[in-house]
Amino acid sequence: MIRFENVSVTYDGATEPTVQGVDFEVPEGELVLLAGPSGVGKSTVLGAVSGLVPHFTGGTLRGRVTVAGRDTRTHKPRELADVVGTVGQDPLSHFVTDTVEDELAYGMESLGLAPDVMRRRVEETLDLLGLAGLRDRSIATLSGGQQQRVAIGSVLTPHPRVLVLDEPTSALDPAAAEEVLAVLQRLVHDLGTTVLMAEHRLERVIQYADRIALLPSPGAAPLLGTPAEIMAV
Ligand code: ADP
Ligand code: ADP
Repeated sequence: MIRFENVSVTYDGATEPTVQGVDFEVPEGELVLLAGPSGVGKSTVLGAVSGLVPHFTGGTLRGRVTVAGRDTRTHKPRELADVVGTVGQDPLSHFVTDTVEDELAYGMESLGLAPDVMRRRVEETLDLLGLAGLRDRSIATLSGGQQQRVAIGSVLTPHPRVLVLDEPTSALDPAAAEEVLAVLQRLVHDLGTTVLMAEHRLERVIQYADRIALLPSPGAAPLLGTPAEIMAV
């Protein structure tokens, strides 16, 4: 569903690539963890999937990244919204409306869907994420875990096949983190969504992963394997 073919990214002004030799596939309907210490290039790899790299960051991407067959270099992030949903590190920076319900509807606005389809998708997503009781709340008044679920919901309403998340639990306490991870697991198991998630705290999320891509050090190619194989490295 996501395919990296010998990808390297060199940011403008840098002499060395930030990531290189990235060559792996994320199979449809799996939750794949992109692991490795801070600064190793996880966000860069995710950005190459969502199209943020290099369209919005500058720099050069060599090799090829495709999502559901679409080359992310020749499609703008907006043109990928129905294929890949992206949630960045800071959910607050993600929000553009006031209430939960408006935020879930906003993501669909450029898709040209009929109003009744949009309403149904908002309802489905509120239920899926356990947010129905919060629909009229101002997002600013919610807890961190609730906000993270709204951020996820806002990219789910276009029904993307792929969800990309950058450390979605990093600002959350363990209970809120587990709620978010349980939602992701439900998406994978019940809807067949493909999830690629970056996280530097392996122990927190490893039980949810079908597969791991570990970036061991800057510029090094990722190690690939099942959680058991990666833990043995
Ligand atoms: P991680 O997500 O693993 O913490 P990042 O992909 O955020 O790693 O960063 C990897 C390296 O790339 C860091 O040294 C960072 O400073 C650099 N970097 C990230 N984004 C940019 C950018 N837009 N321009 C230049 N350098 C960047
Ligand atoms: P539409 O919204 O275009 O009318 P449906 O509501 O019939 O289409 O959705 C098609 C299917 O997608 C339904 O079975 C629904 O359960 C499922 N679905 C719900 N949420 C998502 C999602 N986030 N991603 C993919 N499929 C989803």
